[in-house]
Amino acid sequence: MSETFARLKAAVGEKGFTEDQKEIAPHLEEWRGKYQGKSPLLLKPASTAEVAAILAICNETKTAIVPQGGNTGLVGGQIPVHGEVLLSLQRMNRILNLDAKGMTMTVQSGTVLATVQSAAKEAEMLFPLSLASEGSCTIGGNIATNAGGTHVLRYGMMRSLVLGLEVVLADGRVLPMLTSLPKDNSGYDLKQMFIGSEGTLGVITAASLRLFPRPLETAVAFVAVPSPGAALDLLGQMRGHAGGELNAFELVPRIAMDLVCKHIEKMHDPLRLSSPWYVLVEIAGGSGAGERLQDALNDALTRDIATDAVMAMSEAQAQSLWRIRESISEAQRREGASIKHDISVPIAAVPAFIKKATAAVLAKHPGARPVTFGHLGDGNLHFNFSAPPGQDAAFLAEWDAIQLIVHDIVKDFSGSISAEHGIGTMKRELLPRYKSHEELEVMRALKALFDPGNILNPGKTVPALHRL
Ligand code: FAD
Ligand code: ZN
Repeated sequence: MSETFARLKAAVGEKGFTEDQKEIAPHLEEWRGKYQGKSPLLLKPASTAEVAAILAICNETKTAIVPQGGNTGLVGGQIPVHGEVLLSLQRMNRILNLDAKGMTMTVQSGTVLATVQSAAKEAEMLFPLSLASEGSCTIGGNIATNAGGTHVLRYGMMRSLVLGLEVVLADGRVLPMLTSLPKDNSGYDLKQMFIGSEGTLGVITAASLRLFPRPLETAVAFVAVPSPGAALDLLGQMRGHAGGELNAFELVPRIAMDLVCKHIEKMHDPLRLSSPWYVLVEIAGGSGAGERLQDALNDALTRDIATDAVMAMSEAQAQSLWRIRESISEAQRREGASIKHDISVPIAAVPAFIKKATAAVLAKHPGARPVTFGHLGDGNLHFNFSAPPGQDAAFLAEWDAIQLIVHDIVKDFSGSISAEHGIGTMKRELLPRYKSHEELEVMRALKALFDPGNILNPGKTVPALHRL
């Protein structure tokens, strides 16, 4: 092993590695503290050629390696739980090109999402991927997880925002697919294999991204609705008024508002009366977006789809309404233990799903506190439960049982057990219960084709055949 490490260190030079456990420590624990890893060596390459050299050595010596971007993943995919070498892409953080006419941006994969958003904004354009972790997560991680977020309704998931990729294969060969062409039907679209592959098929070193026109006007409202069914009616009604300009449609339950006001500094309820459910709506587009939203809200209030609403009158107000939605995960974390599910079901089935799955979890654990929120416009709910006060340990002991109850109901509704966070370590062993034998066979065959030595993020995403 020491000879392999010596070769790896030589491949990246003095600045490109550390064995100092103090420096490695922040890379070993993820945001929720659920997975704790260990690693003897953190590699920090500065170029594609260095990544290629690293993987060639790892492949030859059968040394397992875990790619990591901003370490914000929520399913443990980026954590070296078996003591693997860590490969951080964070030094590869340059914007390589911004093509204003073609509306594309090419970046190294360690570039932080917020940096890409700002660069697009400075050029009077928009990169629409938007996540609460955008200040830390990287484009490589966003691609490897096919990230979603709050604007999927309008712009799609990360997959729809990628035009080209540069990928280093497990044996060190480089796939040069960094095209910016909007149209390219020249055979299999190989880049798609790596989008959502969670670092198990190749290491993404650069990406060419689609940019969009900046909306001239953005309007945001926080709307009280009596039920998820009413929220769904509001979605149809907003689509009618907004044309193609509906940007976000996020469901927020009352308990989330309470938790945010309790745990997050300077937060308050923007509406006078309490409501069991809320929706955050954003319309963005040509001038007059504000008027269109106002008309839609008046119509919804008249028809009793909504019971109250507040519209942001300034960018600062819009941001503070968004902060309520984006602080829910953090507030829930500060409240104590929780069991979370990132699921999707067909949009029309959301109210029935919430009713059935909530009742089933409460039957199992009567004190559990449902905190169901998220991207209603995509049928994607963060179907979370906080522990009853003071019962964190007893509640967490039910993790597996509660997860099965929820995911089985998701399956009954023809939904997905991972809408946007991926499979990683957390859901890997669940996949055989919810995916067909045929799909799993093809997944395993692809893993064996791209990574025959099983060195790339082993033990993640693809359910076992290869054992560590
Ligand atoms: P990491 O966490 O470092 O890695 C994630 C996975 O990608 C791992 O499997 C890793 O091995 C692999 N990987 C990373 N970089 C590369 C690379 N260059 N090549 C190959 N594989 C690579 N996600 C959503 O989809 N929607 C949300 O709304 C959302 N909100 C979040 C809010 C908070 C507060 C937090 C903490 C997380 C949230 N996430 C969300 C999850 C997370 O931010 C995303 O999954 C993000 O895309 C991960 O990017 P990262 O750079 O941090 O990747
Ligand atoms: Zn989300």
